[in-house]
Amino acid sequence: MKLLIIEDEVKLADYLRKGLTEEGYVIDVATNGVDGLHMASTGHFDLIVLDTMLPGIDGFGLLAALRQSKRTPVIMLTARHRIEDRVRGLKTGADDYLVKPFAFSELVARIEVLLRRGADTTLAPNALVLFLEDLEVDLVRRRATRSGQRIDLSAKEFQLLTLLLRRKGEVLSRTEIAEQVWDVNFDHGTNVIDVAVRRLRSKLDLPFEHPLLHTVRGMGYVLEHRQP
Ligand code: CA
Repeated sequence: MKLLIIEDEVKLADYLRKGLTEEGYVIDVATNGVDGLHMASTGHFDLIVLDTMLPGIDGFGLLAALRQSKRTPVIMLTARHRIEDRVRGLKTGADDYLVKPFAFSELVARIEVLLRRGADTTLAPNALVLFLEDLEVDLVRRRATRSGQRIDLSAKEFQLLTLLLRRKGEVLSRTEIAEQVWDVNFDHGTNVIDVAVRRLRSKLDLPFEHPLLHTVRGMGYVLEHRQP
């Protein structure tokens, strides 16, 4: 599988090239929009990772031009706080987007999903499943279960759970949770996070014997299995 990364931040481009090469992909990199568009339109790539802010032609212009001739799956990298960028990207024909800064593992997961979608519409049943003890979260089907019992979650609760589960054992602050899940910086004192955590906990832990979601006083929240 050959991927094209169009990203002008050289450090990030190098990091992605290295990481994705380790994941088994063949990587080409363009560091400006003009080269990126040329490579994307003339070469064969299975997927393109496209930054929005680029010298030459920006990501939107590039994507609009590319979509005249090619349907190559595109994941756009957008800046935080710019919801309109994401909407514009999706409207222009992006297949998915990631908000910077993003976790490398999330990029890999999204790439895998898009490549699978392109290759075959029937997804492998065990694709992209996260586990902790009896908790299972299927990222593709967007479904959570504990001991085989379905847990009904809202979209935000699902994102919150996924974030905590990806980083299980790590205490996440309210600020970080706000940025990652709500994509905004809440003013200190806002209890939106606490309310969401409480709701998640009532679905995730209350019906079961061993709680997984713990409050760390003064620091935040952690998802982990603790010995009773
Ligand atoms: Ca950029």
